[in-house]
Amino acid sequence: MTLLDSVFWSAGISRDALATRSAFSKTRVNSAVAGMLEQGVLEEVGVQHSTGGRRPETLRLNRRLGVLLGVAMGATGLEVAVLTPDLEVLARHSEPADVRQGPGLVLSRVRALMRELLAQCGATPKQVISIGIGVPGPVDFDSGQLVNPPLMPEWDAFSIRDDLRADYGAPVFVDNDVNLMALGELWRMQRGLQNFLVIKVGTGIGCGIVCHGVVYRGTNGSAGDVGHICVDPSGPRCHCGNLGCVEAMAAGPAIARLATEAAQAGESALLAEMLAARGTLTLQDVAQASRAGDTAANAIVQHAGALLGQMLASVVNFFNPSHVFIGGGIARIGPLFLAAVRQSVYHRSLALSTRHLEIQYAPLGERAGLIGAGVLAMQESLRLRGSVR
Ligand SMILES: [Zn+2]
Repeated sequence: MTLLDSVFWSAGISRDALATRSAFSKTRVNSAVAGMLEQGVLEEVGVQHSTGGRRPETLRLNRRLGVLLGVAMGATGLEVAVLTPDLEVLARHSEPADVRQGPGLVLSRVRALMRELLAQCGATPKQVISIGIGVPGPVDFDSGQLVNPPLMPEWDAFSIRDDLRADYGAPVFVDNDVNLMALGELWRMQRGLQNFLVIKVGTGIGCGIVCHGVVYRGTNGSAGDVGHICVDPSGPRCHCGNLGCVEAMAAGPAIARLATEAAQAGESALLAEMLAARGTLTLQDVAQASRAGDTAANAIVQHAGALLGQMLASVVNFFNPSHVFIGGGIARIGPLFLAAVRQSVYHRSLALSTRHLEIQYAPLGERAGLIGAGVLAMQESLRLRGSVR
């Protein structure tokens, strides 16, 4: 890792701390930092709290380098933000969107939002350093192409990177949404954890893998595609064609479907009332009913949590992570879902794998995808910068 990478990953750092982290001598760090300050790559801000002696200035990537554009595309929503090189969000916008509309419509909206948000922060397209984009499907990271994405079939073999690169003179990087959530959490912890998983449960179920401090994508970029692990061979048919995939039984649409059935069968007055008022039930309705103590909603939530835990138990035995962070729309359900997941994992995993295992909701919450898109944009543009030097 270069000194510049270390500054970026620590989100503000003193020269002394930089020397400690980088294993270079203080003299070498001081002279390198002086050079980068002069070039305008780094800047000094504020004064860090110090235990005495001279007061160290905090170094960060120079905001005059420009801005980053981050896009988090979900199956049912879209989020775009302008960020500083040290990932402060300058402007952001989120709205419902349907990725199944295909790249033409969705990307024209992304373009419009990018223009509006840049204008809002008084930035010009020329100031864009790099663009990071998360999508809810498998991405071949090297080509930037989506590969047979089940939730967005119209995007198969489409290159968002090539499509957007023409608009800005900036590099575009595309990755799977849950990989970016993992990257976002890795940055938040300043790489403090080396081996952890981020599970996203929304319209689908996916897993971001951080192994030895980096996001592991696999040979073709499909690592962590855990949604199609079978949890019940006699379960319902999944959109992938197989029976009883965890995604078909414990993701948002399955939870909404079970709640609709419960409402129609007269098992819950509250769910029936919601169904009558809204016409359909969503994961958020079930979350609301569950938090209100509805028995039928709670049973559905606990069953979904147990199935997710059943899948996770195998994954935990295989990978032995220190932490599993759960994110996506499911996080709004609250502690009941998490308790069911934990119980199922601890019950089924080997003692050695779970001795130090912590299972929590993702601390960055709904910001994880967008922050991850910013991390990807900055990290990869630093890598490009390094390779041209
Ligand atoms: Zn499946």
